[in-house]
Amino acid sequence: MTEFHYISYSQEVIFGVGSLDRLSEAVDRSRWQRLMLCASNSARRSGHVSSVEAALGHRLVSIYDHAQPHVPESQVAEALALAVDHQVDAVIGLGGGSPIGLAKAVSSALEEKRTGQPARAAFPTDQPLVPVIAIPTTYAGSEMTAVHGITQHADGSSRKITFTDPKITPKLVIYDPRLTLDLPPTMTASSGLNALAHCVEAVYSITRHPLSTAAALSGARYIVHALPRCHAAGDDLDARTEMLIGSHLAAISLSNVAMGFHHGLCHALGGTAGVPHGIANAIVLPHAMRFNLDATAPQLAQIAEAVGLAVNGQGAEAAGEAAAQRIYELIDQMKLPQHLRDVGVSRTDLPHLAQVALQSRAVQSNPKPIRDAAQIEAVLEGMW
Ligand code: NAD
Repeated sequence: MTEFHYISYSQEVIFGVGSLDRLSEAVDRSRWQRLMLCASNSARRSGHVSSVEAALGHRLVSIYDHAQPHVPESQVAEALALAVDHQVDAVIGLGGGSPIGLAKAVSSALEEKRTGQPARAAFPTDQPLVPVIAIPTTYAGSEMTAVHGITQHADGSSRKITFTDPKITPKLVIYDPRLTLDLPPTMTASSGLNALAHCVEAVYSITRHPLSTAAALSGARYIVHALPRCHAAGDDLDARTEMLIGSHLAAISLSNVAMGFHHGLCHALGGTAGVPHGIANAIVLPHAMRFNLDATAPQLAQIAEAVGLAVNGQGAEAAGEAAAQRIYELIDQMKLPQHLRDVGVSRTDLPHLAQVALQSRAVQSNPKPIRDAAQIEAVLEGMW
């Protein structure tokens, strides 16, 4: 890693217990006057939507509060119509990766509508017309990235397509651990595994750099320490705070490196087979690590150390295998599904899923080259 190239993004990040109370002053500073909120039903039920309403008052001109997983394109069209009608000047994504992804998709579509030009930034420093504000309530990490995915339906099948544009990176991110206290145990565990997967794939990424590696290893340390405690006692504010720091570091590590096989496969399982994103991460991660082990052993050995294993005297491959096993045990301890057959994926779907995954950018960027769908199908068989 003596040559590297990456883009970092200009973002204001406010982290801390009670930091949602600082939303109003941050919005004032940026002179946003007409904000739209994208959220899921759970944020309405838990009162988080009301908290944002109370903080923003008349500046909140529109609310779309039924964002569904995986950002269906029909919802992007609905939310965009609302944003246009209300002439919004900023879009808030409150919740998990789905409402934050929806806010990014709306921001991007508004840019194209208002300028008549493709939204993508010519220079990484280009500013959006209608920026995104992210208030995460899970550990998915979309708040720190320039990527969003939309699930498109065509010819009786669906597929998640990802887009990258520095302009849609949220300009303001508010992390308030209080907003994660109501995250149910399974969602806590699976979303936490998603964050851990960001660390693993960042450490062996073909575009890794010193900062992404430092963030990923530190993130993995926080996550393995805090996640089981958050799963066991969701109201443990100290554990929730530590876990959110871990997921923030994981998201930083993910934000400017190429992801690999693991992420490409999770997108295929989510967009095409409807598997919830965090659950897909839990099923795939140990398999993806083992698949990549011969090409990435020194990096996976770093993960082994970060997750607390004593690797002294072991070869890198043995240490990398121990890291995969440690993560498998964590998944088992938190009682997450470990097989595709347990989450409604039919064995006859595996060849199609392998074909879909093969076309993903992430799979094409995997550190161990993947040239044909048969390689992917064999891994899918192993996790079925
Ligand atoms: P999600 O946003 O789909 O939410 C899953 C469920 O959790 C929903 O039912 C939601 O209502 C509920 N939920 C969220 N926060 C809650 C809370 N605090 N309390 C109770 N319930 C809560 O799930 P996710 O795993 O956060 O995000 C997954 C999506 O994000 C996928 O579409 C994935 O592709 C995307 N993603 C994008 C990036 C990126 O960089 N762009 C990174 C990671 C994930």
